[in-house]
Amino acid sequence: MRRIALLTSTALVLAACGISPSTEQATRPAPAAPGVSALSVLTWQALRQGDSGRDVVTAQYLLRHAGYTLSVDGAFGAGTDSAVRSFQSSRGLTVDGIVGGNTWEKLIVTVRQGDNNNAVRAVQDQLRSGYGYTSVTVDGAFGSATDAAVRDFQSKRGLSADGVVGLNTWQSLVTGSSATGSTTTSGLAQQILNTSRITLGTSSSTVSGNPRQNMLDTAAGRAAVRGCNSDANCGLTVYLKRSMLDGMLRVAGSSNSFYVTSIAGGVHSQYSDHYAGLAFDIGIWNGVSLSSPNSAHTAARNACLAAGSDPSQTFNAYYDPPGGHSNHVHCAWN
Ligand SMILES: [Zn+2]
Repeated sequence: MRRIALLTSTALVLAACGISPSTEQATRPAPAAPGVSALSVLTWQALRQGDSGRDVVTAQYLLRHAGYTLSVDGAFGAGTDSAVRSFQSSRGLTVDGIVGGNTWEKLIVTVRQGDNNNAVRAVQDQLRSGYGYTSVTVDGAFGSATDAAVRDFQSKRGLSADGVVGLNTWQSLVTGSSATGSTTTSGLAQQILNTSRITLGTSSSTVSGNPRQNMLDTAAGRAAVRGCNSDANCGLTVYLKRSMLDGMLRVAGSSNSFYVTSIAGGVHSQYSDHYAGLAFDIGIWNGVSLSSPNSAHTAARNACLAAGSDPSQTFNAYYDPPGGHSNHVHCAWN
């Protein structure tokens, strides 16, 4: 259900790696969204108007804790939207009504035994209704039963079992997963979809699967649709490889943001790593367009190398044995 705020310009880079100029479609990448740097490190469930459920209850309790008057009913309606926007404005966040990582991390407050407030109610509600700790009462009073449940929850998720609900425990309660990540390709794909600093292109002009569709298919356990290079292989599928997905998350790391123009789709050389599910292309690096050679080309390639990409298969404007990489950076894993 996580939706990522995608760049909306119609002009996207269709990456062309090592192919003849006639088949290249070099267009200017969309400008990066404002505030794309300095985003949260952890992945969070993003919520917006129309959503409902346990995490909405949590957000509503936290908004009440922050001083807003709204019903805690698990339905993200106009009242919650208004409170979210007001909260975002007051904290210097992008005012979009979406409770994503940055907003979550401003909303949460550390709670521990002895506390008594609406943030504690949020924790208790998650523990009781979301994770089955029926010994916990949702009364706002962080007592011994809540403490025991928190410690058990933490130990089962590899978190420090200290009974203190801080950043990592809040994130784990809300997303239902460990911040240390998933081990399956579908889990990695979901993590990528949940990462606000990775923007996956949605251009309908991409030959066969666009990056976001490739990732949605992978998250659903399906193979990704491939592009082709003027041959009969258009529309074949490939399972995106774990090494590349893991690499993409590592490239994002704790602070990089980037725009992916191509994964398995697009026009590339016939035996390109893209068609093996091992490569992706970057069109914007930390807000800087890679449409022409610049220092961001070097920075993006270095980040891929640091994330384990194959040095001989990681191309940019300055390391470009196959040619065709003056307008994007191509990173491939083995
Ligand atoms: Zn490429």
